[in-house]
This record gives sequence, C-alpha cells and structure tokens, in this order.
Amino acid sequence: MQPPVSSCVFCRIMAGLEPASFVYTDELAAAFMDINPVTRGHALVVPRAHVVDIYEASDELAAAMFVVAARLARAMKGALGCDGVNFWMANEPPAGQVVMHAHLHVIPRYVGDGFGLRRGSTGRASRAELDELAQRLSRALEAKR
Ligand code: AMP
Ligand code: ZN
Repeated sequence: MQPPVSSCVFCRIMAGLEPASFVYTDELAAAFMDINPVTRGHALVVPRAHVVDIYEASDELAAAMFVVAARLARAMKGALGCDGVNFWMANEPPAGQVVMHAHLHVIPRYVGDGFGLRRGSTGRASRAELDELAQRLSRALEAKR
C-alpha cells in the first residue's frame, strides 16, 4: 500500500524531498549512501515503490534490488579497497528494521573488521563525505557496465 509520501523517509528521498547521496537509480530501484554508516561506503538499495519489506516485494522488485546490490558489491571491491561486502536486510522490527520501507544494506567489510553481519553505526557521516563516496561508487558502477 502506498502511504502519503510525507510519512516515509525513503519515499521522500525517492521523490527528491529529502537529500541523499545517490549512487545509482533505475526504473525499479535506487542506491544511496547510508547516513549513519556501519563502515565507510555503507549503502542502501531501496525499491522506488513503497513496500515495507522483502515479504511484500514482488519477485520482479526483489530481483531488481539484488541485482543492484550485486553491482554495488563489485563496485565497492574495486573502488573502496575493502576486503569484502556484507548484505543485511532486517525485514520486521524484531530483527531491527527501523525504516519501514524495504531496504537492503550493502556494507563494505575491511580487514580487521571481522565477519560479524551487523555492528553499530560509527555515527553520522557528513554530506560531503557521503557525496564523495557516492561519486566514487557511481563511477565504478559505470566502468563495470
Ligand atoms: P534499518 O535499521 O534496517 O531499518 O535501517 C535503516 C537505515 O536507514 C539506517 O542504517 C539509517 O542510518 C538509514 N537512514 C535513515 N534515514 C536516512 C537518510 N535520510 N538517508 C540515508 N540513510 C538513512
Ligand atoms: Zn516509502
């Protein structure tokens, strides 16, 4: 169900009503930098349409999200010098979902981080830093195509 755009932060970002550092957009999904990154380069893949979680997503939407996440992971490996990339999706509040618009976390893993799936944020990143990372990843995505 589509809520009023004003009540969902990710719908507001998609509508251009809130700032975001975009890496990628297509007809079905988009990727932008997480404002409270767990590690440097942490990004979110978000469907354009308002669906609450993966259980509500159509196969087409789910596939679109995972394709973008895979491209992003390859771009991160090349452009950020990370050791690897973790995917995380909470799907429901008991698992830690806070923003109730589906999103797949794509989290670079650096040597020494260990292999924990999710840790706390390192704090809010500046828009300038997020923009710089988004541009770097966006260029790496273009280069791979
Ligand atoms: P979750 O806890 O899985 O619902 O994740 C929500 C994520 O959205 C968190 O990692 C937040 O840091 C991130 N987030 C919330 N608001 C924004 C925003 N305006 N721009 C970018 N990321 C956001
Ligand atoms: Zn929404």
